[in-house]
Amino acid sequence: MVTAVYPGSFDPITNGHLDIITRAYALFDKLIVGIYDRPDKQMLFSVEERVALAREAMANFHGVRVKSYSGLTVDFIRKEGGRAMIRGLRMNSDFEAEFEIAAMNKKLAPDIELVCLMASSEYQCLSSRLIKEVASLGGSLKGLVPEHVAVALSNRLAGVELEASTQRASRRNKISQQ
Ligand code: ADP
Repeated sequence: MVTAVYPGSFDPITNGHLDIITRAYALFDKLIVGIYDRPDKQMLFSVEERVALAREAMANFHGVRVKSYSGLTVDFIRKEGGRAMIRGLRMNSDFEAEFEIAAMNKKLAPDIELVCLMASSEYQCLSSRLIKEVASLGGSLKGLVPEHVAVALSNRLAGVELEASTQRASRRNKISQQ
């Protein structure tokens, strides 16, 4: 039984992330999506909101769990009994950043293997950062993020709190994942 963890900030989750999750889940017995609570960059959504949006996006992904974490990613992976850390690679800049982090993680946790999946061609240029920029300029996010994420983005950018329905859906998923 091999468990993998897919860590990231997921601010918010996109169809590019979901593509990696679908493909990684086909390779491992158990997959945990780890949402880092305080990345070293400005977040649009709180960690609770990022978890709620991810859980709702994964309502049909039975067996994939979403959890938030703080501290070292390798410590979280160990705590969850993970053997592999999943990352997605889009372009050269992703490779350089991942290579550096991987070297440090290997020193900290030699038992955890990094598994990088290449982004599918339709999501090569898709990032949470770009999604937020397009949303702030009123562009269409069709095919790039799940519908509830597009709604949450436009509400947040209009200064509205995350939809109660999303929070309800998250509570439902939390209960069904326990
Ligand atoms: P981080 O802040 O850790 O980079 P992200 O949420 O931006 O977190 O991304 C999490 C992981 O998903 C990273 O490995 C990133 O390269 C990957 N990723 C992000 N967007 C895509 C995409 N469109 N296709 C494939 N992988 C992606």
